[in-house]
Amino acid sequence: MNIAIIGTGNVGLITGACLSDVGNKVFCFDIDSEKIENLKNGNIQVYESGLNRLVNKNLNVNLFFSHNLESVVSDSDIIFLTVGTPMNELGGTNMDCIYNAARQIGSCINNKKLIITKSTIPVGETYNIRKIISKEINKRKVDIKFDVANNPEFLKEGKGINDFMSPDRIVVGIDNRELRSLFINLYRPFSINHEKLIFMDIKSSELTKYAANAMLATRISFINELSILAEKTGADINSIRRGIGSDRRIGYNYIYPSVGYGGSCFEKDLNSMIHVSKKFNCNLGIIKSVEDANLNQRDYFINKIIRKFDNGASIRGKTFTIWGLSFKPGTSDVRGSVSIYIINKIIEMEGNLHLYDPKASDNIKNIFKKQDRINYFNDKYEATKSSDALILLTEWPEFRSPDFSILKRNLNKPLIFDGRNQYDKYMINSLGFEYHQIGVPLL
Ligand code: NAD
Repeated sequence: MNIAIIGTGNVGLITGACLSDVGNKVFCFDIDSEKIENLKNGNIQVYESGLNRLVNKNLNVNLFFSHNLESVVSDSDIIFLTVGTPMNELGGTNMDCIYNAARQIGSCINNKKLIITKSTIPVGETYNIRKIISKEINKRKVDIKFDVANNPEFLKEGKGINDFMSPDRIVVGIDNRELRSLFINLYRPFSINHEKLIFMDIKSSELTKYAANAMLATRISFINELSILAEKTGADINSIRRGIGSDRRIGYNYIYPSVGYGGSCFEKDLNSMIHVSKKFNCNLGIIKSVEDANLNQRDYFINKIIRKFDNGASIRGKTFTIWGLSFKPGTSDVRGSVSIYIINKIIEMEGNLHLYDPKASDNIKNIFKKQDRINYFNDKYEATKSSDALILLTEWPEFRSPDFSILKRNLNKPLIFDGRNQYDKYMINSLGFEYHQIGVPLL
């Protein structure tokens, strides 16, 4: 099939690379012409596990990048809209990018196409996009038919390629049953093992995406809220997690205690749901408290650090090493990352920072520009030298089993604040470390 991807961010690039890898011809467009120029040369500015290899394997064979929207549209039968839909200042969804993309498509569409909204958009918006495209076509006084469908993306950043290639399910919202066979053909390469497609109406499909993110965020906030109770009562949240996760009705996923979720999606999508619910006079009380618990979790963690140093000294002039800056492992994405909040708090209190991340340091540098209190390191152990504590924020695999003897030698005091509960408290304690986790009292 000939497919257009409009918006080559994380989702667009992964979608384009995977669809091209199974034999489709994929034409990608982005309004960011520098991004397109880089992609034409096989340069990918973001790190996503496996993406570089997949793009370069298919580049100029099945995968093409272009500055020319008109040719991308005319060369394709199916158009995916994968542009950003960030949060607006009222907590709703900023639809500017996707409405603009719809207008641009309407102004150049040349024959019958299927236009698929893959960006996360509030319920009902695929129909608004259809109206915008129709309006542009009418302005041109031409008669061009097109279909719309919604096909939300559920990939997890850091594991995006694998999630696209082997999805749990593929949700498709259509209002024209004839489109079923097209979707079955499009996604057959990703459904070999068993049927993955779940067809539904467009509004249900749009809302399914929000429901999935809300459920995942709820699980995270649930365990995090409970972690505070566990710690205060002398219980260990890691044991409780195993105790409840072993119940098949509950399961182990998304109940890891942590500093809270970050990323570009959960916060904006939950806020968007709350915003939409107000219009329809519904009270999403659970969703509101999920967001509150998440914000609270960051403060709970930084306050633990502050309390430790206020006990006699203060954070001012102290140096903290942070391991992990991206919002999760496997990606260089720092959007909404808890690391930004923690770095800001430490700088506010006149502390110094040694930062290390395998992939995300440049993105953090772009946020903090020239900040005298921050030093960046290319080696995780170097970063711990002359530091007053190690703070672990992202669970990259390389942090799972470090050489603790080097850490002990390098740190001013053997002190670790672990925002991802990566180590065994008894083992760490026996090595002489003071080890603070989420939801676990000190030994
Ligand atoms: P992103 O910000 O990384 O990329 C969006 C891209 O769209 C940018 O390159 C931007 O230049 C481009 N763009 C904006 N307006 C355009 C236009 N008019 N024409 C062409 N290109 C345009 O965003 P993302 O993280 O890839 O997310 C895209 C959508 O997918 C969002 O709705 C998001 O909520 C959703 N989503 C994201 C993820 C994820 O893991 N990032 C997962 C599932 C769903």
